[in-house]
Amino acid sequence: MKSQTKAIPLTSLQLQELRCSYQKGMTLFHEGDDRNCAYIIEKGEVEISVVKDGNKVPLVRLGEGEVFGEAALIGSGKRSATAIATEDCEVFRIFPCILRDSILRLDPLVGLLMSLLVNRYRKWRYVSPEFAAEAGVVEHAKEDLAQVDKADGFLNDLNMQKKIALQELRMAQEIVEAVEKNELGPYLQPIMTLPDRKLVGFEALIRWRHPVKGMVPPADFVPVAERTNIVSRIDMMMLKRVCEIVPSIQKTAGSAGRKIYVSVNLSGTHFDSDDFADEVIDIVRQSKVDPAHIVLEITESALMGNPQTAEAMLRRFKAHGLTISLDDFGTGYSSLSYLHKFSIDILKVDQSFVSDIHNKNSKSFDVVRAIVSLAKTFNLSTVAEGIEYEEDIVALTALGCDSGQGYFFSKPMPVDNVLDFVKESIEKYG
Ligand code: C2E
Ligand code: CA
Ligand code: CA
Repeated sequence: MKSQTKAIPLTSLQLQELRCSYQKGMTLFHEGDDRNCAYIIEKGEVEISVVKDGNKVPLVRLGEGEVFGEAALIGSGKRSATAIATEDCEVFRIFPCILRDSILRLDPLVGLLMSLLVNRYRKWRYVSPEFAAEAGVVEHAKEDLAQVDKADGFLNDLNMQKKIALQELRMAQEIVEAVEKNELGPYLQPIMTLPDRKLVGFEALIRWRHPVKGMVPPADFVPVAERTNIVSRIDMMMLKRVCEIVPSIQKTAGSAGRKIYVSVNLSGTHFDSDDFADEVIDIVRQSKVDPAHIVLEITESALMGNPQTAEAMLRRFKAHGLTISLDDFGTGYSSLSYLHKFSIDILKVDQSFVSDIHNKNSKSFDVVRAIVSLAKTFNLSTVAEGIEYEEDIVALTALGCDSGQGYFFSKPMPVDNVLDFVKESIEKYG
């Protein structure tokens, strides 16, 4: 699944605004200023102080990697202390909008827990005797508390956070039950050589036959499964189902003396665990299918989280005869170095480039040309995704792309239709 856990893209202009330099002696903010951002010290030292009975009382000195002014992230109000650079400093500023975007995008449960903690912290500040002893702080805490009741900030809106988190948990629970009730299973979409349309394989795509909602597409539930760590369960279920289907496909295609593979999508969220690799290898081994008929589709982001572990895992898969396909190529890092380093066999050209490839003046045409020539350099085969028009095939063939899949050939089909498709395809195209 195209990951929901992407970092927020920041433009270089925004990055410039986020990073600031302060010379020794400069004030970053004064007690009583409006709160607008928190700070992380990249270099240098900052002193935090308050004024008591007209005298400056230093509270703490903070160095590299430390965070201050964080109350700005949980509510506006006024600064309860002053921050002064005691050395030349470089700091990054964290604005509440950035935090809000990360929390809302990443995980509703984290959002809920953060809101709860922040609200408790505010109440605790108000009643805490330690804070009550500090001049001015109680006044500021009162302001914070008033804000909780106004519920005007994203972390204040507990009801909204609770609703989203509950929806997420219910959906996760429903997915687990759906696996048990056999409501989840694969549809297969054929992959054909270009331009002669010989069937080379299928991609297994998950479908949920929901008793009430009907057919639920993966975009509606795979992201929840990824965030709640249940995705490996559905991926393993898919791998098992694929291993059950492969022998009958092979038997049907056998008369034409052809090997037909089935590829399975593996989410990147478990790519740092050895157990995950063991489980994949065990499932294939126990099924007794020839591993040469199984392709594992992974995304670039799965490899980049922990490249060393991912590299070792791919090596293990390869050593067991499995084939590795890199999904959605061109949308992520697309780095030369890892194509060289990782044991990859197939590059899947993302459908966003294929959709306007028949227009020779489009940028996509040049992008696909570059991807195909990169693949050839590294001895990888290419599969174009999302082929919808005959003209796409003409353009992809001209560029030397080996094979492709898309609605032009067939939409993903139920397993029951697959053997007929294999027979007809081989009869027609060999
Ligand atoms: P994907 O791996 O990139 O799969 C290709 C998607 O493109 C599929 O969507 C497929 O139905 C769709 N597609 C194929 N041909 C065409 C075409 O000609 N035009 C258009 N517009 N679309 C086409 P689908 O089945 O909805 O799956 C969406 C995504 O969900 C997949 O993208 C994959 O990332 C994820 N996914 C599907 N099954 C699984 C699974 O078993 N495990 C995991 N972890 N993710 C899965
Ligand atoms: Ca895929
Ligand atoms: Ca894809």
